[in-house]
Amino acid sequence: MNILVLNVGSSSLKFQLVDTDADRIGADTDRRLARGQIERIGGTAIWSFRAGDGPATKGTTPLKDHRAAVEYLLAWLVSDESDVEIHSLADIGAVGHRIVHGGEKFVRSVAIDEQVMRGIEETIELAPLHNPANLNGVNAVRTVLGPAVPQVAVFDTAFHHTLPERAFLYAIPYSLYRRHRVRRYGFHGTSHRYVSYRWRQITGTPREQERIITLHLGNGCSACAIVGGESIDTSMGFTPLEGLVMGTRSGDLDPALLDYIAEKEGLSLSGVETLLNKQSGLLGISGLTNDMRELLAEAEEHDDRRAWLAIEIFCYRVRKYVGAYLAAMGGADAICFAGGIGENAPAIRSMICEGLEWAGIRVDEALNRGLPGGEGRISPEGATPAVWVIPTDEELLIARDTFRVTHGMETRY
Ligand code: ADP
Repeated sequence: MNILVLNVGSSSLKFQLVDTDADRIGADTDRRLARGQIERIGGTAIWSFRAGDGPATKGTTPLKDHRAAVEYLLAWLVSDESDVEIHSLADIGAVGHRIVHGGEKFVRSVAIDEQVMRGIEETIELAPLHNPANLNGVNAVRTVLGPAVPQVAVFDTAFHHTLPERAFLYAIPYSLYRRHRVRRYGFHGTSHRYVSYRWRQITGTPREQERIITLHLGNGCSACAIVGGESIDTSMGFTPLEGLVMGTRSGDLDPALLDYIAEKEGLSLSGVETLLNKQSGLLGISGLTNDMRELLAEAEEHDDRRAWLAIEIFCYRVRKYVGAYLAAMGGADAICFAGGIGENAPAIRSMICEGLEWAGIRVDEALNRGLPGGEGRISPEGATPAVWVIPTDEELLIARDTFRVTHGMETRY
């Protein structure tokens, strides 16, 4: 079954077309028929599409809204020039959407109907930037492909619904949780869930015996403590601002700073929030870039002090979370790196693990450096917790969930 996976943002759309079914899931032979993205929707959009593993074709075109973007993408998928292995829109069996926020309501992937749409709408105040765009994507697909094509919502928050109260409640008046749903939700759930599933699959570990820490380090970064296949703690909170240092986000800080910075800099509270979300993290400390690859190059080539400082603070924060989760779980069998940085930056992996030898965490540098972008263990044989690199694949998980939901199958596996 061909499943279109969509990740619709306020002015962007990322997609993959995945051929999957029960046999393919079982044999790990799902096929990626196409992938790509459209950016700057609302003006002159920039698109980049590729069929299979072929080269990317790129171009620009005016696209006024999400519906126009979905129409453009679908027209390309079935066009002769695209070379994608489908011939008409009828070859698309279902559409799976990444939905950022499911609140407390959505604890697993669900088929989208009117009630689910209302549920996602009710969550808009928790994710004002993301959920409306996600909903636009669902509506655009419904208009263009028709209501008969099933659509499935896969929530970024759902995997963390198993957090115990002690992990998800903030130590503020309980009434705020009751009245305004103030709590830790956690994000990147699809990625943590995929990495956890994949680690069990590679190592042949039964679900109930799993005890690992997953580190999703990309532009956004989060850590997750997983026991028995369930998230028991995670570093992102009410919003994706909390926790680790990220490309442009500060992660943890003293909340009293908001007022102080607002006053000193003459900013509104929302201005400070923007500063913490967009001008902080690696970019804020280094004053150079939010991009770890560029930062590493700058640090090494020019020995830039603030580039090193940004890297050091980034790694130190991750290390502290690893320590915290080892304490929360009473030890772990593995630490798994994922995301653009986690998968591609051996130097960062080493720096994070440095000084954690007391906990048994060791990195074999030959394995670590010999694994660019690949999957595998990077700790010496027999060391516990083992250290792994497991490239994440959120789109695959969304495609598989979409297949399962549309076929009445369990999505917890
Ligand atoms: P997103 O969270 O947007 O999906 P990614 O997971 O692609 O982002 O991660 C992007 C981050 O990964 C950037 O900071 C980028 O510099 C970093 N990255 C990608 N490749 C490398 C590399 N070879 N070395 C260091 N950092 C890398």
